[in-house]
Amino acid sequence: MERWMTIYNHRKILIFHFLIANGMILRKLSASLTTGYGASCHSMHLRLLHTSCIRPLKKQRLRRNFHNPKPSNPKRSPPTIAPIVSDSTIVQWNTTITNYMRSGQCDSALSMFEKMSHRTSVSWNAMISGYLLNNRFDLARQMFDKMPERDLVSWNVMITGCVRNGNLGMARKLFDQMPERDAVSWNAMLSGYAQNGYVEEARMVFDRMPNKNSISWNGILAAYVQNGRMDDARKLFESNSAWDVISWNCLMGGYVRKKKLVDARWLFDRIPIRDEVSWNTMISGYAQNGQLSEAQKLFDESPVRDVYTWTAMVSGYVQNGMLDEARRVFDEMPVKNSVSWNAIIAGYMQCKNIDVAKELFDAMPCKNVSSWNTMITGFAQSSLIDLARDLFDKMPRRDCISWGAIIAGYAHLGHNEEALRLFVEMNRDGEKANRSIFSCILSTCAEITSLELGNQLHAQLFKVGLGSGWYVGNALLAMYCKCGNIDQAYVIFEEIADKDIVSWNTIIAGYARHGFGKEALRIFESMTRSGVKPDEVTMVGVLSACSHSGLVDIGTEYFYTMDRDYGITANSKHYTCMIDLLGRAGRLDDAQNLMKNMPFEPDAATWGALLGASRIYGNTELGEKAAEMVFQMEPNNAGMYILLSNMYAASGRWADVGTMRLKMRDSGVKKVPGYSWLHVQNKIHTFSVGDSTHPETARIYAYLEELDFRLKKEGYISSPKLVLHDVEEEEKEHMLKYHSEKLAVAFGILNIQAGRPIRVFKNLRVCTDCHNVIKHISKIVGRLIIVRDSHRFHHFRDGVCSCGDYW
Ligand SMILES: [Zn+2]
Ligand SMILES: [Zn+2]
Repeated sequence: MERWMTIYNHRKILIFHFLIANGMILRKLSASLTTGYGASCHSMHLRLLHTSCIRPLKKQRLRRNFHNPKPSNPKRSPPTIAPIVSDSTIVQWNTTITNYMRSGQCDSALSMFEKMSHRTSVSWNAMISGYLLNNRFDLARQMFDKMPERDLVSWNVMITGCVRNGNLGMARKLFDQMPERDAVSWNAMLSGYAQNGYVEEARMVFDRMPNKNSISWNGILAAYVQNGRMDDARKLFESNSAWDVISWNCLMGGYVRKKKLVDARWLFDRIPIRDEVSWNTMISGYAQNGQLSEAQKLFDESPVRDVYTWTAMVSGYVQNGMLDEARRVFDEMPVKNSVSWNAIIAGYMQCKNIDVAKELFDAMPCKNVSSWNTMITGFAQSSLIDLARDLFDKMPRRDCISWGAIIAGYAHLGHNEEALRLFVEMNRDGEKANRSIFSCILSTCAEITSLELGNQLHAQLFKVGLGSGWYVGNALLAMYCKCGNIDQAYVIFEEIADKDIVSWNTIIAGYARHGFGKEALRIFESMTRSGVKPDEVTMVGVLSACSHSGLVDIGTEYFYTMDRDYGITANSKHYTCMIDLLGRAGRLDDAQNLMKNMPFEPDAATWGALLGASRIYGNTELGEKAAEMVFQMEPNNAGMYILLSNMYAASGRWADVGTMRLKMRDSGVKKVPGYSWLHVQNKIHTFSVGDSTHPETARIYAYLEELDFRLKKEGYISSPKLVLHDVEEEEKEHMLKYHSEKLAVAFGILNIQAGRPIRVFKNLRVCTDCHNVIKHISKIVGRLIIVRDSHRFHHFRDGVCSCGDYW
């Protein structure tokens, strides 16, 4: 039986509580939306104006100065500009503008431009292309619109700018408005369409183009290659004979990317004149695809080797795990660049040879952000989080890979609060989260069961346009399942257009854990109907769906036919599900027989399933046997001691209960204190049994009394002799009424708006009495109460639980 979350650390809840209570996470998340991502064009525009290097620039002044070229601010001390100027002076000024722009000094360029008494179209064009160079697209467009007489260069610069800025619509509009066009204009449109995947449109431009040059031919060839249409590329290539080496390399590179090395080699052997790119493409093609001997042969033959050729060999050897060979080439390299260093460092990191990696990193003369990232990722993946953090704190510049590596490192070790804190800090730093950071943070969110934070991340994802696709979709799906919102999980599942096996497995397992076995099976059926082949994980989900919902016959049939139908051999998880399933139905003999016939030794989980079944049906003898096996394999499994101890208690064997307690004490097994928590308005409220620390204690207890009264009126009698599952402490009869889950549920009813479900999480299994009481409460208050315990979700509605009273 899979455990979702065995132990939940109090401290973590408190820290997270602190973060949320101070509005740190939520406020900063929303702040980052406006500052980090520029949610709309409008805010982007404002930001450009406010943060641009032309600090005091106001639109009005810009406009005024176009009509009045005199310097507007007498306090500035500019070079004096004569009223009549020679051509050479204008050329000089234009050069100055260009130089300012090239060094990123947009404000100096503008002030120069404003002071010029005479301007040529070259001056205007220098400003437009300068702004574009500095990613000030809006300012470039303003300049272009104000320009009194545009020439061909102005139009071409502006169209190219639109294309680079991803604004194909505007590029097309300008292109259609142009009084005359040259090859540059046509080629700009062609490459714009090609780069954005509009191959047909690119081809239309190419066909309409009056004077095609080699750039146009290479442009359309690249359009096909970049979009993976190698057959069309080949056809085009064969329709013309005047290709240059760029074209040959482009086509060859396309084949390499498609891993069609034979085709690539065929071209390589026929290139009239090979350049470095040809050699490098072919060598790295071989190297990346594991054909190291071919790569080495070409490398030895190659007439010119540059740093890329060498690096291709180093990376190839590293990627194929041949670290010694990689090191040999690396040491022989006459000139190394950062890529070569990073490749060899990554190689040592992958082999967990941390010391050598660190040595190389320290010796590296040209560290760039990738080098730091390689080290941080390596440390984080080796669970050396402190070393990773040390480098992360020291690194001069961070990118989203750095943030992703350190956040994933913390999340992987279960340091959820630190992962979230860093995520908030990243947003504050203005770094944009990529898909992998989002999916990491979504898993963290699932770990801490914060549906509210999960909802916010969901909204943020869609705002920044990362919400589609299976990668983030699966993380969202899992988050909603684990945070207890299975309906929303299903909505997400339906929205994922490119579902992969993980999407299907997640929703099936999700429904199973929430006790909606039939839903899980319905989805499984539609999965097989749509031609997706189930894997081992799918079948664990399917069998546990049957087991959680008591569908014994269906489950048994799936178990015995999955090999024939899907080629899946049962593993120990499948057997555990089956034993659970048979045990639930009271077929303890069948369960035991199945265990005997297992092709491998049963593990602790399998014995645990048998123990659980024995408890339900009061078969103490079988329970003892199963427990004995679990203790042998997992001497520290506190849950099993308590389970057995409770079985003794249920059959009145109090002496054995005492022995179990002694045994637990002697073997140093620690009881895990039971507690429950729930999220209300961005705060986590945690309760332990008989808790009196919560500020609303009095109100909660009074309400529980009231509920108790109403329950008794309905005829419900609490039975302290009921078998208790997990916690010794909670066994005390007078405490029964104040178990943590009851306190949490009462608090939820009092504080969560009517009509909304109450979601409570518990670190241990819910006890029988609480289970019964919560069922009745759900009926008398008319609320949906969802309780996640250490084994599964219980949906209490109208006096019934989705688990069918088996858990
Ligand atoms: Zn209880
Ligand atoms: Zn239940």
